[in-house]
Amino acid sequence: MLKVSKFGGSSLASADQVRQVCDIITADPERRLIVVSAPGKRHSEDIKVTDLLIAAASERLTGKIGASECAEVIERYRSIASGLGLPPEVIEPIARDLTERLEKSTTDANLYMDTMKAGGEDNCARLIAQALQARGVEAHYVSPKDAGLILSDEPGNAQVLPEAYSRLRDLNERPGITIFPGFFGYSKEGNIVTFSRGGSDITGAILASAVRAEVYENFTDVDSVFAANPSIVKEPAPIAELTYREMRELSYAGFSVFHDEALEPVYRAQVPVHIRNTNNPKAQGTLIVPNRASTDIPVVGIAAMDSVCCIYLSKYLMNRQIGFGRRLLQILETEDISFEHVPSGIDNMSVIIREENLSMQKEKRVVEQIRQTLAPEDVFVERRLSLIMVVGEGMRHTVGIASRATHALASAQVNIEMINQGSNEVSMMFGIKSEDMETAVQALYAEFFA
Ligand code: ASP
Repeated sequence: MLKVSKFGGSSLASADQVRQVCDIITADPERRLIVVSAPGKRHSEDIKVTDLLIAAASERLTGKIGASECAEVIERYRSIASGLGLPPEVIEPIARDLTERLEKSTTDANLYMDTMKAGGEDNCARLIAQALQARGVEAHYVSPKDAGLILSDEPGNAQVLPEAYSRLRDLNERPGITIFPGFFGYSKEGNIVTFSRGGSDITGAILASAVRAEVYENFTDVDSVFAANPSIVKEPAPIAELTYREMRELSYAGFSVFHDEALEPVYRAQVPVHIRNTNNPKAQGTLIVPNRASTDIPVVGIAAMDSVCCIYLSKYLMNRQIGFGRRLLQILETEDISFEHVPSGIDNMSVIIREENLSMQKEKRVVEQIRQTLAPEDVFVERRLSLIMVVGEGMRHTVGIASRATHALASAQVNIEMINQGSNEVSMMFGIKSEDMETAVQALYAEFFA
């Protein structure tokens, strides 16, 4: 059997962390396909290698040199290599590669940015392969291009193309341990393209699905997924088991332990995901599975998404007007705005959008077009909202969850601006003012977990 194991940036931030990662890899002969992120932060004030590379690329794109940021990245690899006792020459190809990337043409800004960003994972994978080889282990770096990880040509936000899966299946046949860089692949034209930020989780999920892994182990820096954000709720309960759908809802609304786009590939192939802690590999972790045995626990987690806004509009007899909703969404499409939810009543509709997707200029244009095209009685935009999600498969056959949730919010003096329950009944969503977010999460946690 084969396990795909992915190690996040904090697990690779220093020589000590990399040593720990190598111990974990070699402890289990089934761990043969390893995906790595770029080195992350060593302490809270530190800068991730990916962020340094973005800073270097941004400098060059504004006509400057970006050399100091690039040198800082090279220094990060050098300190990991020397801390591992590797010979100084191992850093030469890494330094050359990063310098070459920095000096590439900036004519296509998106391509240039993605080429720089990918340098973090690519060089980390080469270094980890060498660290394992130095222990006498057969380990090989593989390039996503040679392996066939073909992605859509959407820089910074690429999606895997279906034909990649059959090509990646051959990774199964490789000798020894394969070290695969996360976060990027290649377009059909042969250009480097990256996933969205945190995208090494997606690489791991695609590989796990392609090779039909027994499990996809996702090593990070926490013992498990917790039922609420530990910076809002003190010592929240760990979650032992979750379904793919529950995890999708939680990561959508702010649980950053696992990238929400990483669930689709493993869900399709029904490969379980095991979230584990590099610094405490004995901890139970969280298992993400197709079906949870204990659905008698109705709610598994409370998530909160901050910085959303809402376009409200109302028009008498709106329900009778065919095409009203389509025309509203068409205005957003024309402005290239993606939306999150569209709760509606008989004579009103609201569209919930992440604030980052609705700049003040876009807001002005959208409101103007709504007025002209749809002639509503009222239209306005409210900012600084938060969405709170109460998530759990067990909700489907448990009476009274909504009543308990609304009661808890009312007792905490939180005004609910909107309620939405998806038809799959895996989550219930409450829109509230951002200033009430922490109080709301604490009140709901106390209701369902205390
Ligand atoms: N290094 C990339 C980032 O910081 C991808 C990842 O770590 O998953 O976003």
